[in-house]
Amino acid sequence: MDFIENNPGGKRYGKTLVGSHFINNRFEGGSTKEVFKSLNPSDLNDVVGVFPVGGEKEIQKAVDAARSAFAKWSQTPAPVRGEIIGRFGKLLAENKQTLSWLVTREIGKTKREALGSVQEAIDTAHFFQSEGRRLYGQTVWSEMRNKECMTYRRPYGVVGIISAGNFPIAVPSWKIIPALLCGNTVVWKPSEDSPVISYVFAQLALEAGLPPGVLNVVHGLGGKSTGEEMIKGIDKGWFQKFSFTGSTVVGKMIGEACGRQLQVPSLELGGKNPLVIMDDADLGKAVEASLFSCYGTGGQRCTSTGNLILHEKIADRFIADFSSAAEKLKIGNPCLDETVYYGALINSRFGERFLDHFEMAKKDGAKLLFGKGRITKDTRPSNFSGDESHGFYVHPTLWDGVKINMNIAQNEVFGPTVNVIRVKSFEEALSVANGTAYGLSSAIFTQNPQSMYLFKNHIDAGMTSINNSTTGAEAHLPFGGTKGSGNGTRESGIWVIDAYTKWQAVNVDLSGRLQLAQIDAETATMADIKPMGNLNQLFPSTWA
Ligand code: NAD
Repeated sequence: MDFIENNPGGKRYGKTLVGSHFINNRFEGGSTKEVFKSLNPSDLNDVVGVFPVGGEKEIQKAVDAARSAFAKWSQTPAPVRGEIIGRFGKLLAENKQTLSWLVTREIGKTKREALGSVQEAIDTAHFFQSEGRRLYGQTVWSEMRNKECMTYRRPYGVVGIISAGNFPIAVPSWKIIPALLCGNTVVWKPSEDSPVISYVFAQLALEAGLPPGVLNVVHGLGGKSTGEEMIKGIDKGWFQKFSFTGSTVVGKMIGEACGRQLQVPSLELGGKNPLVIMDDADLGKAVEASLFSCYGTGGQRCTSTGNLILHEKIADRFIADFSSAAEKLKIGNPCLDETVYYGALINSRFGERFLDHFEMAKKDGAKLLFGKGRITKDTRPSNFSGDESHGFYVHPTLWDGVKINMNIAQNEVFGPTVNVIRVKSFEEALSVANGTAYGLSSAIFTQNPQSMYLFKNHIDAGMTSINNSTTGAEAHLPFGGTKGSGNGTRESGIWVIDAYTKWQAVNVDLSGRLQLAQIDAETATMADIKPMGNLNQLFPSTWA
């Protein structure tokens, strides 16, 4: 790895990595001089890495490498592929501290959350190591004698991947690990928010023993740049499968391009996740969980709570407890202070969108309960531990008087802000919870088993928590959404295998003669069945 001296102001965080693409197991620079910088969101003086901006040339080169590698990799026994994935998991575990530090430095997650997100990648590798010993097909009876039928999972070929930066190691591992385990090869464009973590991910994959061309990484920016070139690659027929995690607007563009190729992409998109608190809830637990659900990771999780749906009987009490807990939350630089609850927003784009939402909420007529926008020297909370002039730090925010049809209740903001929607009954809570165009995650706090049952059965969301936060995922459970949150594909667990393999049905005829399905198949004896005389009279045979 090549490093250069950091800016004087960023020196305390470490050096600056001079990054490169990873094609055919070689780290190489770009074909142009265009570069982008990865900055530490908690302290913009710190340049974490400098990377080349990839374009058509680099993507084509990576696709060629992936295509050449596919023939051999797809024929490598799946248990052997699994062993390499297992070694990769072991390397992730050995480097967990360093990787988590990078997640904190490059994305601004707290240490606790960064460790958890690296653990998710480790769990994923270990889960899929043993899937290499399964990847089951079926053997099935034929309609005919002396004939065998069976099914096989086959890999697609070259998988194109674009990922978001808020989960820079867990989410890519959800895609790359199963795609490779199933025998595909990969061309990945990571988020411009987290190129250094992606670079180290590739380095560890190389150390784990992935053959050349099996995993390729082309760095770059989003629209009108590397991301757009990746989408053009779909239209050029470069990818046999595409997988995307990011905003719904970009997901739709990818869905359209894949549709033109008659391909089904994996699309994991945005959310406006509802959290319902009923009048019989354990309020202490509900407040604690809601705090993390709404403000953990600075609200920059696809599963963060967007709408807090409160039963009117407990609404005021809940808001009072929630507000006093939110007031005590410590915001600051997680690189220098392990006790902060959340750090700066990942990039200024999220920052601008967060500031814009105040205007939207005011136009909607929502009532601001607390929240002062960006943290400045005049609005610094007393326990703030960072330098507000060097990062986009924002105050937690809460809106009351929100109705589900307001813009603020319908649009994902991706920051620490949440809307209170008051309801009179369980039925109304459920209807409001289902009232957005998204369907990623959902949660309810109640002690009533019937409400639990009805909620999980009638909420239209890919994931549902009962008495827990809307956030969180486990490597062996399906992750994904309904409606505008995705196209129904799932990440993680055994379900993701369906996304990265296609089924083949095979029959082997050992009869020594031509037996045609349906036509030559024998049927059960008719001896005991009485002919339906009337029907025969109605429809006399013309073939006799
Ligand atoms: P984004 O869609 O702007 O960017 C995600 C990726 O797409 C990046 O790699 C970016 O470079 C690329 N990209 C951006 N514009 C592009 C374009 N026009 N063409 C091709 N590629 C393009 O998303 P973001 O705002 O960076 O990330 C936050 C979003 O991701 C939120 O909506 C969040 O809910 C969603 N997300 C979803 C999940 C999930 O699993 N459902 C997980 C994490 C994040």
